[in-house]
Amino acid sequence: MSPAAQGMLSDEDLIALPKADLHVHLVGSAAPHTVVGLAARHPGAGVPTDLRQLADFYAFRDFAHFLRVYTAVSALVRTPQDIEALVLGLGADLSEQGVVYAEVTVTPVTHTVAGIHPAELAEALGAGARAVRAGTGVELAWVYDISSSDGPAGAQSTLDAALRHPPPGLVGFGLGGPEQGVRRSDYRDVFAAARAAGLHSVPHAGETTGPGEVWAAVRDLGAERIGHGIAAAHDPLLLEHLIEHNIALEICPSSNVATGAVPSLAEHPLPGLLSSGVPVVLASDDPPMFGTSLLQEYQRARDTLHLSSRDLIDLAAAGIRSGFSTGNLPAVGKNDCSAPAADRESAFDAGGRVGGADRLGL
Ligand SMILES: [Zn+2]
Repeated sequence: MSPAAQGMLSDEDLIALPKADLHVHLVGSAAPHTVVGLAARHPGAGVPTDLRQLADFYAFRDFAHFLRVYTAVSALVRTPQDIEALVLGLGADLSEQGVVYAEVTVTPVTHTVAGIHPAELAEALGAGARAVRAGTGVELAWVYDISSSDGPAGAQSTLDAALRHPPPGLVGFGLGGPEQGVRRSDYRDVFAAARAAGLHSVPHAGETTGPGEVWAAVRDLGAERIGHGIAAAHDPLLLEHLIEHNIALEICPSSNVATGAVPSLAEHPLPGLLSSGVPVVLASDDPPMFGTSLLQEYQRARDTLHLSSRDLIDLAAAGIRSGFSTGNLPAVGKNDCSAPAADRESAFDAGGRVGGADRLGL
C-alpha cells in the first residue's frame, strides 16, 4: 500500500513540506554529473570521469575511506567559477526537493590550497547565493569549517578566512574531518575567537566517537548544534543536557550507514533520539556521495524508520527553527511544534499541500 493510502505523508506531501538542510557540505553536495565534468577537466586527480565508475568510487569501505574520496573530489575544485557552479547546482537540487533554506558547510582551507584566495571564495559564494535566491527563492547561508586533518595551522587559516574574508551570510563555524584521535577541546581557542566574532558554533562530534566528545563540543567549543552527535543516544545525562540547553543534533541517517557509523538504516538511533525529546533536525551531509538527498532522508525516515506524519512535520519545523539566518524565511518559521495546532496546519498548508491535517490524523 502506498504511504498516502495508509494516511501517511505522500512523496508529494514531503516535497511540499517546507524544509531546511542545516548539515550539507558544498563539495559533498556536488551532483555526479558535476563531479565527472570536473574530473574530465583534471584527469590526473584520480576521480572517475564516468558516472558508473563514480558510483563504484562512492562505495565507501569505512569513514577513513570516505574522507580520502572526499579529499580527492575536493581537489577538483580549483577556480572561483567552480565554486559558483557548485552553489548553483546545489541551489537547483534543493529547490526541486522543497528545501527553502540551507546552511552549507564550506572548508576554506581546501579551496585556498587549490589556489582560490579566501576573498575570491567569499565573492563566489556570495554571487552563487544571490543567483540561487533570484532563480529559485532558496536562501543559502554558510558555515566555515575546520578539517581536523589540516592541523592547528589549518584551524588558524579557517579562522582567518572567516574573520577577514567572510562571505555574505556566514553564520557558523564548524569542525569536521577525522574524529578518531582528535580532541574537540584542542580547538577551544579558535572556536572562542569565532564565537566572539558572532559566529555560531556547530562542530561535528560523536559521529564515530563516543559521547565524551559531544560533551567536549558543548563544554569546550560552546556548540549550539552538533553535527551528527549520534553517540549521545548512549548517554542519558548528555541527552538531558542537550534538551535543557536546546542544542539540536543534526542527524544524517544515510551518511551514518554509508560510512559505517551505524550498521544499517533500520538500526539508526533517530527514533530513540526523537522519543527522548532531544532536539533533532534531519539533514543530508554529502547527499550524492551517500546516494541520498534531504527529501530521501524524509522518505527513508517514513518508510524504514516508520516515523509518523507528526514526527516528520515536527522534524521539518525543527529544521526551520534551528537555523541561524536572520534573513526573511517563508512563513514556515511559524511552523513550530510549540505553536497552536491551527498555526502548524496553516503553515504547512502554506507550503502548497492540499487535503488538510485531518487526513494525516493530526
Ligand atoms: Zn558533515
